[in-house]
Amino acid sequence: MAPEPTLMEKLVSLCKRRGFIFQASEIYGGFESTWDYGPLGVELKRRIADAWWRDVVTGREDVVGLDSAILQAPQVWETSGHVAGFNDPLVDCKTCKGRFRQDKLDQSECPRKPSKHPGEHTDCELTEPRKFNMMFKTQVGPVEDSAATTYLRPETAQGIFTNFLNVLNTMRMKLPFGIGQIGKAFRNEIVTGNFIFRTREFELMEMEYFCRPEQGEEMLAYWVQERHDWYLKYGIKPEKMRRRAHEPDELAHYAKSCFDIEYEFPWGWDELEGIAYRTDYDLTKHAQATGKKLAWQDPDTKEWITPHVVEPAAGLTRNVLVFLLDAYAEEEVGGEKRVVLRLHPRIAPITLAVFPLVKKEGMPDVAREIIRLCLPHFPCFYDQAGAIGRRYRRQDEIGTPFCATVDGQTLEDRTITVRERDSMEQVRVPIDELISYIVERT
Ligand code: ATP
Repeated sequence: MAPEPTLMEKLVSLCKRRGFIFQASEIYGGFESTWDYGPLGVELKRRIADAWWRDVVTGREDVVGLDSAILQAPQVWETSGHVAGFNDPLVDCKTCKGRFRQDKLDQSECPRKPSKHPGEHTDCELTEPRKFNMMFKTQVGPVEDSAATTYLRPETAQGIFTNFLNVLNTMRMKLPFGIGQIGKAFRNEIVTGNFIFRTREFELMEMEYFCRPEQGEEMLAYWVQERHDWYLKYGIKPEKMRRRAHEPDELAHYAKSCFDIEYEFPWGWDELEGIAYRTDYDLTKHAQATGKKLAWQDPDTKEWITPHVVEPAAGLTRNVLVFLLDAYAEEEVGGEKRVVLRLHPRIAPITLAVFPLVKKEGMPDVAREIIRLCLPHFPCFYDQAGAIGRRYRRQDEIGTPFCATVDGQTLEDRTITVRERDSMEQVRVPIDELISYIVERT
């Protein structure tokens, strides 16, 4: 008998089968570690991003948003230290010819091991580590010379630092304040894998919080707590999360101290989000390189202050994986297996599915009418194919929190059955009250 698929295998298969995530360039056989987000996946990703944007940016008086360019002047990356210091330790194996990241050997497979179990490197003869720069180089314009070389951004943060004065002056910000940004980032990772966990192209949700130097440590503690609680708010299981302080030798070149919010992935605890105390490193470097005064003047004391920075940086695409893994459940219902994604109603790609019990007696028309009514408020889906139980199961599998069924009684009294995904309880709700019923519960 074939072994039971692992949780990751089940999730990858569900994501493909139900239109969440496809292999990129699939009809050409795929392209290493790149993924496309299908109709449900893009919705899930957007809803996570919207929740972050609402809670970290627009929902706060002290934070504003930004959308800076992926391509920046190459000097930005010289100054930020990324050209010299954004390196991972690369080791080669003389026996298997594999290339690995020295500090992630436990996550990479030795090509000579038939078991394909990451971390088995017993026969490997590894070279001394050398520095491998992770930035993607690219040419700007039609001339291929070194003057036209720049990089795809490996983090969105530098676009925030280079716009510090623009935002400060146009928005008349006062310390402490933050600038948030969501966007693509690119890192030429030595080891990719575990589905969308570590890819070379990914999306980040980052916020630089500028404060007085003496507030730095306090703000770091504050943001670690805020970000931890944010995951709980959207239903991530508390026992699957923990906070971990970086050891001094782990710190990025710009960080004084750093906390990771870790999640217990199927392969063990690993990083979901990093909250780094970057001090005044970036602003000071850019000020030195450009001669600009990247500082804030206290209006009361007239003192010029170069702010310190605390940065919560979360992977949006890694968030998608965590929300999916955390939501995935299998259970027995009436002697049958039920697969259910217990996604938070604010995160689930579809909020409400509407079914006519049968395809006649005007039920489809009423179901369509309900969809038209609800669509301006939340994402809905219409399904009339197959037995009602199977339609429920299909929605369970993609995490839809509510299903509404139009039946004979609906035609008499304009009430419908609303079934809740997790409890599977059904209640009758007047059509006129459906929107408020759902909105109150999401
Ligand atoms: P690692 O050491 O795991 O490679 P990192 O510590 O360099 O990652 P950060 O620079 O702190 O990562 O990045 C912030 C967040 O961005 C991470 O917590 C993660 O969620 C996300 N992230 C970083 N690299 C990748 C990647 N290659 N693919 C997907 N998400 C990533």
